[in-house]
Amino acid sequence: MQRLASSSSRRLLGAALAPARANSSLSAAVAAASPKMPGFDYTPPPYDGPRAEEIFRKRAEFLSPSLFHFYDRPLNIVDGKMQYLFDEDGRRYLDAFGGIATVCCGHCHPDVVEAIVNQAKRIQHSTVLYLNHAIVDFAESLASKMPGDLKVVFFTNSGTEANELALMIARLYTGCNDIISLRNGYHGNAAGTMGATAQSNWKFNVIQTGVHHALNPDPYRGAFGSDGEKYARDVQEIIQFGTTGIVAGFISEAIQGVGGIVELAPGYLPAAYDIVRKAGGLCIADEVQAGVARTGSHFWGFEGHGVIPDIVTMAKGIGNGIPIGAVVTTPEIAQVLTRRSYFNTFGGNPVSTAGGHAVLKVLEKEKLQENAFVVGSYLKEQLNKLKEKHDIIGDVRGKGFLLGVELVTDREKKTPAKAEISHVMNHMKDMGVLVGKGGFYGNVFRITPPLCFTKEDSDFFIDVMDIALSKL
Ligand code: PMP
Repeated sequence: MQRLASSSSRRLLGAALAPARANSSLSAAVAAASPKMPGFDYTPPPYDGPRAEEIFRKRAEFLSPSLFHFYDRPLNIVDGKMQYLFDEDGRRYLDAFGGIATVCCGHCHPDVVEAIVNQAKRIQHSTVLYLNHAIVDFAESLASKMPGDLKVVFFTNSGTEANELALMIARLYTGCNDIISLRNGYHGNAAGTMGATAQSNWKFNVIQTGVHHALNPDPYRGAFGSDGEKYARDVQEIIQFGTTGIVAGFISEAIQGVGGIVELAPGYLPAAYDIVRKAGGLCIADEVQAGVARTGSHFWGFEGHGVIPDIVTMAKGIGNGIPIGAVVTTPEIAQVLTRRSYFNTFGGNPVSTAGGHAVLKVLEKEKLQENAFVVGSYLKEQLNKLKEKHDIIGDVRGKGFLLGVELVTDREKKTPAKAEISHVMNHMKDMGVLVGKGGFYGNVFRITPPLCFTKEDSDFFIDVMDIALSKL
């Protein structure tokens, strides 16, 4: 990712964008000599809106300089359909990033669009001070996807808001302040969640109290390899040496997304949950990326670890792109919010919840969890074959359609291949494939496509990645 850090760098990038048309024909030439993308029977409507250069210039002038973008020359994406995106010239791209693990049913899925449009035509916003069926329909449907007694839903507008609320609920319920989160985790960027987020590049120098960051049970880079129970001892030690002996809770992703698709070592979560509960704490599962069928084997990421949390948070995929988040907990724990007034103007609004409800129905109707399992497993196998061929691939990991490929210049030392990954990403884009990247060192491909991604898409993705890696 490139940051638009200063006005001079913005000018430079603006200049780089000037010959965009010439470059788009260059990309088209690269595409013509590239593997063939699977056929797709859809042509987007003609686009006659502003071009990339103009948008980029305005973005630099009128939007926060904190915005950053992928690619040497940022893409102007104007249409989307299922697992494909289209740029201003109508050029089609295979989307292997899904708007950061957010688009699950597919871009502009007709059922989801229909539900949103129908609801928007009827009533877009009233307030939860009145009744409306959309919010209860979606809450009931979400609750039916949850194990145990997790059946009370509070809707928010984002993952950050959901995690802020979850941390507060844990603190209120226990009367404690101490939260334990994992190093390399990402949970949001507001006051409480920035404390729980544990990567320096996402932390600003503002007060973030009450969070202890446990050793990351990272099988690739962690000190104890895949021995989950050894890492869990660190949670015990944090409680013993860093707190009064009791804690408010523990928050973790089932597979770290922003952190570079890091699967937690087997056995870690059950052991950590056990330790936290013995210290009086609640266990929070952040399912913002790993939830909603993405891991394929299970609907929720935590189910893959054999645990039942006390609080589950979600966002991204539950709306297929519409802004919505949610906290799900037990009726008993949910009671703490009645001690004062707690309110969210837009949380659970009719349009978002009608969209979310449609998403759940589509996932079921189109068996997208099964597709994520079958095709995601196939794609992972093919990625592992690429690893045998290309030394620069240090690790392939993840489940379903939450996959990571870590690039290193030295397999022994695990030296992050930062420059190389940008090069490969740009080349893949020129051949028609969009993929994400992340991880603390910015050297991990994040493959998180819409769950309708096919086996043919996977073959095309692999051919393109293979060529891009070969050209390094
Ligand atoms: N939790 C996780 C696991 C996330 O990946 C993210 C977003 N990347 C968040 C929370 C925060 O979500 P949002 O950006 O919607 O606030």
